[in-house]
Formats: sequence, C-alpha cells, structure tokens
Amino acid sequence: MPRKRGISLRCPSCRKIVLRSEPEFPFCSERCRLIDLGRWASGGYVISTPINDPETGDSGYPNPNVKKPN
Ligand SMILES: [Zn+2]
Repeated sequence: MPRKRGISLRCPSCRKIVLRSEPEFPFCSERCRLIDLGRWASGGYVISTPINDPETGDSGYPNPNVKKPN
C-alpha cells in the first residue's frame, strides 16, 4: 500500500504546495487566507441549497419494513 509522506495541500488561493507545518495551513500565507475569505464574501463560491428535498416526499409510498403475513 502506498503511504503519503507528510501532509501537504495546495493553497486554495495560489495553488502553491503548503505543508501542514505552515502556520497558515492550508494557506501558504495570511495574505492568501484573506484572499480566500474575500472570495467567499464576494460570492465567488456559490452554494445552491435546494429548498425542496425529494427524499422526503413519502406520501403514498409503501413502507418497505412492513412484511406481508403468510
Ligand atoms: Zn497561497
């Protein structure tokens, strides 16, 4: 089995390799961390949350746990 040597990620802002030992991990610097925060604030990341959950539409759905009597 392959094992990873140390833990490193790419800085979300500038894609530079960042080691876990870095103080601003997973960012390479405080500046990049602030850039990423600013991206969130400006709507760079758009997370759509569905209002209607189709999984909960259980009206008239047969209960799979009910066993038929023999
Ligand atoms: Zn960076």
